[in-house]
Amino acid sequence: MDIEAREITRGDLADAEREDRPMRTEANSPVVLEKEASADLVVVGGGLSGVCAALAAARRGASAVLVQDRPVLGGNASSEMRMGIMGAHGDDNKEAGILEELQLRNVYLNPLLRYTLWDDVLLSTVRAEPNIMLFLNTSVFGVETDGGRISAVLAWNSNSQTRHRIFGRLFADCSGDGILRLSGAEFRHGREDPGEFGETYLQQGGDRRTMGNSILLQLRRTSEHHPFRAPPGAYHFTDADFAKPDDEPPLPPGARRVHYLRLYPEDNNFWWIEYGGNLDTIGDANAIQDELKKIAWGVWEYMKNHPDGRARDYDLDWIGALPGKRESTRFVGPHVLTQGDVLSGGHFPDVVAYGGWTLDDHHPDAFFKKGRISVEYGCPSPFGIPFGCLYSMNVPNLMFAGRDISCSHMGLSATRVMGTCAALGQAVGTAAALCLANSLDPAELHRRRIAELQTALEEDDCMLPFRWRHPSAITLAAHCAPQCEVLRNGIDRVYGGKDNGLWLAPGEETCVYKWDVPRRISGARIVFDSQMTFMGKRMRKLEATTERAEMPAPLARSFRIDVRVAGSWKTVFSDSENFLRFREIAFPEPVQADTLRLVVESAWGDDQAHVFAFDAR
Ligand SMILES: Cc1cc2nc3c(=O)[nH]c(=O)nc-3n(C[C@H](O)[C@H](O)[C@H](O)COP(=O)(O)OP(=O)(O)OC[C@H]3O[C@@H](n4cnc5c(N)ncnc54)[C@H](O)[C@@H]3O)c2cc1C
Repeated sequence: MDIEAREITRGDLADAEREDRPMRTEANSPVVLEKEASADLVVVGGGLSGVCAALAAARRGASAVLVQDRPVLGGNASSEMRMGIMGAHGDDNKEAGILEELQLRNVYLNPLLRYTLWDDVLLSTVRAEPNIMLFLNTSVFGVETDGGRISAVLAWNSNSQTRHRIFGRLFADCSGDGILRLSGAEFRHGREDPGEFGETYLQQGGDRRTMGNSILLQLRRTSEHHPFRAPPGAYHFTDADFAKPDDEPPLPPGARRVHYLRLYPEDNNFWWIEYGGNLDTIGDANAIQDELKKIAWGVWEYMKNHPDGRARDYDLDWIGALPGKRESTRFVGPHVLTQGDVLSGGHFPDVVAYGGWTLDDHHPDAFFKKGRISVEYGCPSPFGIPFGCLYSMNVPNLMFAGRDISCSHMGLSATRVMGTCAALGQAVGTAAALCLANSLDPAELHRRRIAELQTALEEDDCMLPFRWRHPSAITLAAHCAPQCEVLRNGIDRVYGGKDNGLWLAPGEETCVYKWDVPRRISGARIVFDSQMTFMGKRMRKLEATTERAEMPAPLARSFRIDVRVAGSWKTVFSDSENFLRFREIAFPEPVQADTLRLVVESAWGDDQAHVFAFDAR
């Protein structure tokens, strides 16, 4: 580990509290503190892509600094914005890996699915990683370069009035806004000309327009009706403002779904309070924020006080302050993912992540557009995303994940959902760790060791489309009962109508691997069934409810791993409170054993537990 400075710890604070120091004045203390830190990987931006990038890199042995300009992690998924995490369509295609871990931690620790506790689930997960140094409330505003490479980022913490200089070997921009383009990295902001990549769904382009920013509202049910008094400055809307035009053009070919303003409270998270696509979503962000507030107040006034009583049974529980951004800057990498790539399914040999949302392009006029505000075009799910979208063309130690990856405006319309962004983050963090372990830049890793990256991702429970994981050689060399074969087929999920798993009753001893001669076994890899399709894990649009989310019923809660050494069984690992799908377990010490077994003792809801994979290490 290469961490030279840590944020102050509780121990340091206790010392400082005891210390008898003279009053601070301009004569004896600096006004602005200056601190330096360094790590193998510096991740800028703590949205889901940045959180997953930092966790992935740290767990694979790299030291990481995570710099986040907000007091909470999660970006658009945090309590500050409250977007629900979406990803690839189709039951077979749900994102696993770190994202599924975070969502399971959330149900376990935060069963009422409160957004502020979800922030803390993310925070505590990152804080628990010894290889991560987290800087909250810290905004990167500059870079230092050396020979075309980034050597350090400069950041400002207004909470502690501290200026940070953070050195790194690799940098990952997960800021959504591509702040590390300060390094001179190539980028784009706006819509390509439709002819550039032959993007037929792009009706207009060749301009700086983007999708807009949004402020969300959260409602709660109420039995009392109190009209809403909009604050001064609010817009005041009437039905006439929302009348649909008579002359909407016919739907373009390929359109799967269209969206209008949704002026009723039911099942609404108000994503369509969207504005700023005709402005600069970065440079004009404050003006956009002001305008969105006026719109949001006006929308709720219109709905709540509407004479038809449509929102009588709802109260406004929460209104966002900071708008979420959908689109701003996209870096340029060796590959630019386009509409064509998405529609053809992205069969890239260097695939490292996937999407599966629709091509979902919002009109830049957004809220003020009369009629349709967005059109979704169907596309294959999953579609592969290649590694060439995740590092810079011209700054050799710069990678990126999230909504600022290398893609066209149309490509982004499909890749921007947070399940995809999280998978991209895990790919970048894993790639960074491999680069660092092998002293390679991302471009060299791409050329020389892409298969290693793909294998590492699959081992860490990331599905890569059009290929499956190879179980370990020692696992494949074992004898097992026919029904256990499925645990080593490399498909760690229900797929294509096939179960790919084994039900294990408590105490049942069928999940057993035997070798002709004793083998050195140092651990086990297990994938339990966490019902990835289960919607109960998703954060709710209506927050204030006392309905508890349940842990997935078939997920093993209590289990143990036994080995047989010299004829005797010995338990080498046990857990009575498992809440994760993916477990990579290192035994306290390697054992020389001829038999290994997994014994489930209970599941969270079902009588039996469902298991997808069991590998010896
Ligand atoms: C209104 C709206 C609705 C959406 N609906 C959905 C939806 O329903 N489902 C879905 O999955 N996706 C949805 N999206 C898309 C999705 O939220 C984004 O594409 C996604 O959050 C991008 O993830 P990210 O990690 O790249 O960026 P972000 O979530 O934007 O996170 C980036 C983080 O970096 C921080 N940061 C920025 N600059 C700096 C800096 N200089 N220094 C330090 N930190 C910095 C930011 O504060 C932020 O916390 C929606 C987006 C919007 C705006």
